[in-house]
Amino acid sequence: MEIKCITVGLFQVNTYLICDPGSGECVIVDTGEGDDLAARMARMAPRPDVRAILLTHAHLDHAGGLASLQALLDIPTYLPEAELPLFETLPRQGDWFGMPALNRPCGRIDNTVSDGQVIEMDHFRLTFISTPGHSPGQGCYYTENEIFVGDTLFAGGIGRTDLPMGNPALMRDSLRRLMTLPGHLRVFPGHGPATTLERELKTNPFLGYLRVERGMTEGASFPW
Ligand SMILES: [Zn+2]
Repeated sequence: MEIKCITVGLFQVNTYLICDPGSGECVIVDTGEGDDLAARMARMAPRPDVRAILLTHAHLDHAGGLASLQALLDIPTYLPEAELPLFETLPRQGDWFGMPALNRPCGRIDNTVSDGQVIEMDHFRLTFISTPGHSPGQGCYYTENEIFVGDTLFAGGIGRTDLPMGNPALMRDSLRRLMTLPGHLRVFPGHGPATTLERELKTNPFLGYLRVERGMTEGASFPW
């Protein structure tokens, strides 16, 4: 897969353009907050053959640009099913951060996805794993070699669990499940640099509880 990371907006969110090099078929993961991604896509020549928009979760910094992107690309959009209640708050989420100018229209959801569901393109497929905790329905999409995790996991960190509808206990269970996927998977997070599941399992200070459970000895631990 060819992975292009496009970092956009006030919150410096990583959006991803994933393309099958043979066919040119692409999908987008997350939209960023404003019109940035749509503007960047409009300038690309030749225009990529984008078939779908996949949202990891419905925070405004990841999904706020959906309406503007759909105005440019009228393609199917996927959202984790349990994320719908949060998605409906997009027109008010700017208020949560004291920035009403960031209240956004919702855009259109064509398909919801649930744990284990496979999204088939003509030339590649992505599997969805539900990893709630940062938000009620946050999830990740993965191929044979890559996983797009939104704000579930970062290089050396995890997504915050103190926002409305966040849940630290669910987050701990989600990270436990996430780490049962193959360690070689390259991790593309919603913020910051890429990593691998194996590297995070060994070194991420927020995953110390998993290392204890597995009898691993490496890595410092941060209680949370
Ligand atoms: Zn988020």
